[in-house]
Amino acid sequence: MNLTSYVAGKPVISDKMLEVKSPYDNRVVGTVTLANATHTAEAIEAGLKGGKKLNRYDRFSILDKARQLLVERKEIFAQTISAESGLAIREARYETGRAHDVLFFAAMEALKDDGQIFSCDISPQGKARKIFTTREAVSLAVCITPFNHPLNQVAHKLAPALAVGVPVILKPSEKTPLSAILLTELLYEAGLPHYMLSTLLGPTAEVAEALVKDPRVDIVSFTGSVPVGKKIAATAGYKKVILELGGNDPVIIMEDADMDTAVYLAAEGSFRNSGQRCTAVKRILVHEKIAAEFTRKFIEKAKEYTCGDPADPETKVGTVIDEGAAIYLESVVNKSVEQGAKVVLGGKRKGALMEPTVIVDVPRSADMVVHESFGPLAPILTFKDIDDAIALSNSTAYGLSSGIVTNNMNYALRFIKELKVGTVNINEVPGYRIESSPFGGIKDSGLGIKEGVIEAMKCFTFVKTFSLPW
Ligand code: NAP
Repeated sequence: MNLTSYVAGKPVISDKMLEVKSPYDNRVVGTVTLANATHTAEAIEAGLKGGKKLNRYDRFSILDKARQLLVERKEIFAQTISAESGLAIREARYETGRAHDVLFFAAMEALKDDGQIFSCDISPQGKARKIFTTREAVSLAVCITPFNHPLNQVAHKLAPALAVGVPVILKPSEKTPLSAILLTELLYEAGLPHYMLSTLLGPTAEVAEALVKDPRVDIVSFTGSVPVGKKIAATAGYKKVILELGGNDPVIIMEDADMDTAVYLAAEGSFRNSGQRCTAVKRILVHEKIAAEFTRKFIEKAKEYTCGDPADPETKVGTVIDEGAAIYLESVVNKSVEQGAKVVLGGKRKGALMEPTVIVDVPRSADMVVHESFGPLAPILTFKDIDDAIALSNSTAYGLSSGIVTNNMNYALRFIKELKVGTVNINEVPGYRIESSPFGGIKDSGLGIKEGVIEAMKCFTFVKTFSLPW
C-alpha cells in the first residue's frame, strides 16, 4: 500500500519515503511520502484560507457518509491496523467498530444546538433581558496522535473537530500512519472540502514541532506519552492545549468481589490490545485475604490469551509496537525480579511478541508499579484494607482511570470519591467507556480536560455570549 501525506487534499510529492513494517515479521506493509517544512506552511495557510463554510447538515452528511464508507471497508481498515501495529486481527476489527461509533455519534452531535439561555430577571439585581450562548469554531486545529489504536485515536480527534467545522492538520504516529491516511482519503471521498484536512508525516522539527509552535494554530490536541505531552505544553505558547497522556491504571479487587468477574476483568484489562491501551490494567491490586485464590485462577485465565501471529483470528495477543518495546518490557520484568518479584507466567519475548506475563510479590517501588509499562504485563500486588488500597492506587504520578471489583456499595462510593483519577468504573475494566462519554485523566495523565466526542467538540470551539432585551 503506497500512500502519501496530504496538504489540503493534494498528495505530497517527494522522494522522501517512510517505510512501515509489520512488527510481527518485519515485512514492508506500506510506504508514505513525507512532508517537509514547506508542506507544513502550506497546510497552515490552506486551513486558514478556508473555503465553502459547512452548515450543520453538511457536517452531519459528511460524517454520516464517512461512517457508511467505513462500514463498507471495515475489513480493509482492520487488516491495515493489524498489519502496521501488530495488533491481533480480532482487536483490529473491534477497533474499526469503535471508530464507526465515533463517526456515528459525531454526526448526530453535529445536528444538536449547543447554546444555553439565561433569564436575567431572577434576583433583585436582575432585569428584563436574556443572555444566550453559542459556540463558534476555532480557526485551525492541530491534532497529534499515538501509535496505539491507530484508527480510533485519529477518529477521536477528526470527527469532533469536523462536527463543529474546524479545519484540522493531523500528524499521526510515524509507527502507524496507514490507517490514518486511509481515513483521511475516506473523509475526502465522503465530501469533506479539502481545506478542512491535511495529514502530514515528516521530520518532527519540520512538521510536529513547527505546528505546535505556530502562533496561527488555535489549538493543539495531543494524545501520547507524558514526556512529549509536557514538551508540547512547554513550547506551544498562547493557545489551547489538550493533553491526553499516559496511564498506570489499577484494577482493585476487594475481598467481597465475585471471583470470576475479578479474574475476567483483570485479564481483559491487562492483555487486550497487547496491554497497549492508555487505560490498560497496569497494576492488579488484590485484597490479601483473597490474593492466593485470585492468583491461582488468574494464572489459569491468562493462559487463554494466546500470543502469536496477529493475522490469525485465533490469536488473542499480537505483538507490541516493535521489538524495541518488547525488549524494554522484558527488561522491566527482569528488573522487578531483581527487586524480589516472581514471574509465574510468561516473561519472555520473541521479536516484538511479548508473552502475557503474570508477576507476583512485586515491591511497591518496582518500576512496573511506579511507571507506565505499555504491554501485556500483569503485576499483582496485595493490600490489607480499603485505606491501603486507596493509598496504593493514588501513589503513582498518573491519574487516568481505574476499575473496582466489589459488591459493597460503601466501598464503591469511597473509591469514587477518593481515587485521584479521571474515571472510576465499578465492576468494569478501567478502559470501559462509550465513544461519546467524557474521558480523560488528571495529574500526569492530563490536565483534567475531557475528550470523548461531546467534550472534544467543546474543546474545538469557544463560547460566545450575547444578550438581548426581553
Ligand atoms: P509518543 O511517543 O508521545 O508519540 C505521540 C505522537 O507525538 C506521535 O505522533 C509522535 O510522532 C508525536 N511526537 C513525537 N515527538 C514530538 C514532539 N517533539 N512534538 C510534537 N509531537 C511529537 O506516544 P506513543 O508512544 O505513540 O503512544 C503511547 C503513549 O500514548 C502511551 O503513554 C499511552 O498511555 C498514551 N496514550 C494516552 C491516551 C489517553 O487518552 N490518555 C490514549 C492513547 C495513548 P512520531 O510518531 O513521528 O514520533
